Amino acid sequence: MKPAHRPYRARVERVQRLSPSFTRVTFGGPELGDFGADGLDQRIKVVLPLESTGFDTFPSGDWWGEWRALPDHARNPFRTYTARAVRPELREVDVDFVVHADGGPAAAWLAAVRVGDDAMLVGPDATSGVTGSGVEWNPRGASSVLIAGDETAVPAVSSIVESLPADARGCVFLEVPTSADVLELTAPPGVSVHWLARDGSDEGHGARLVEAVRGWTARYVTAWHRGVEVSEVDVDHDILWDVPQGEARHGEALDGELYAWLAGEAAAIKTLRRFLVAEVGVDRRHVAFMGYWRLGRAEM
Ligand SMILES: Cc1cc2nc3c(=O)[nH]c(=O)nc-3n(C[C@H](O)[C@H](O)[C@H](O)COP(=O)(O)OP(=O)(O)OC[C@H]3O[C@@H](n4cnc5c(N)ncnc54)[C@H](O)[C@@H]3O)c2cc1C
Repeated sequence: MKPAHRPYRARVERVQRLSPSFTRVTFGGPELGDFGADGLDQRIKVVLPLESTGFDTFPSGDWWGEWRALPDHARNPFRTYTARAVRPELREVDVDFVVHADGGPAAAWLAAVRVGDDAMLVGPDATSGVTGSGVEWNPRGASSVLIAGDETAVPAVSSIVESLPADARGCVFLEVPTSADVLELTAPPGVSVHWLARDGSDEGHGARLVEAVRGWTARYVTAWHRGVEVSEVDVDHDILWDVPQGEARHGEALDGELYAWLAGEAAAIKTLRRFLVAEVGVDRRHVAFMGYWRLGRAEM
C-alpha cells in the first residue's frame, strides 16, 4: 500500500504579501499534479533547505523513518503548515505563512524566499487511494459550529469557512496581529465572522480569542453539563492535540448539536479546552482542540 503522504519537489512560483503579517507562497512543479486536494485544514510539511546540500539528502517515498535515521547535518528541518489552496490541474499549492519575529527556520526561509527557489513539501498523495489524512475538520452534520483560531489558523479557517454549506449556522473568531491583517473571507449568511486584532495590545497572545469564546459561550450555550474532568496537558513539553478519534470521529452524526474547532497558540487553546470541557461541560467528541505552536518554543 502506498503511504498517504509523500515528499514533493517543487519551486517557488509566486510570493505575494497579503497583509503585514501574511505572505502567500505559491509552490509549483510537475510533481504537484498528484498533490491531494481534500482542502479544509489539510496539514502539510514545508521542508527547509540545508545551506550546503539543499534538499539532496531528503528521502523520497516513505520519508519519516529514513529522515530520522539521517545524521544531524543531513537532516532538513521542516515545519507544519496548511495547504491553503491546491490546484492539481495547474500543479500548484498555496501556503499562507505568518510573518513572525523570534525566527525559526521557516521564518528565516520566508524572509529570504525568492521566485525560482527550489522547494519541497510533504503532503497528501492523491494516487495513494487514501483521502482525508491530515484533515481534522469533521462536523458530522452538526447544526451549528464554533470556529476559533489565531493567525496561524487563519489559512485553515478560511478554507473551512469557504466549504460550509449555504445553510450553515455558527460563529467564527480569528485573532490576528493587526487590523490590517483582516483578510477577505466570505461566510454563509448564518455564520458570523469576528476578527480580533491585537493591535499592539499588551494583553498577550490569545487573550482576545479566549475572551471572545467565553463571551459567546455564555450567551449561546446552555445545553452542556458542567464539571467534567479534563486531563491537563503540559504545553511546554507535550503537543496539545485533542481531537475526536475512532468511533467519535466516524460515528454518529451531530444532528442538532454544536461542533467546535479551535487551533492556535497552545497555552490559549489549553485555556479554552479547560474552559469548554471542565467548566462548560462540552462533550469532547464534538470538539477538536489543536495547539498549532507554542510561544517561546520551536516546533521541533
Ligand atoms: C496543523 C498545523 C497547521 C499550521 N498551519 C500554519 C499556516 O498555515 N500558516 C502559518 O504561518 N503557521 C501555521 N502553523 C504554525 C507553524 O507551524 C508554526 O508557527 C511554526 O512554529 C513556524 O516555524 P518557525 O521555524 O518559524 O519557528 P520555530 O522554529 O517553530 O519557533 C521559533 C520561535 O518562533 C516562535 N513562533 C513560531 N511561530 C510563531 C508565530 N506564528 N508567531 C510568533 N512566534 C512564533 C516560537 O514560539 C519559537 O519561540 C501550523 C501548525 C500546525 C501544527
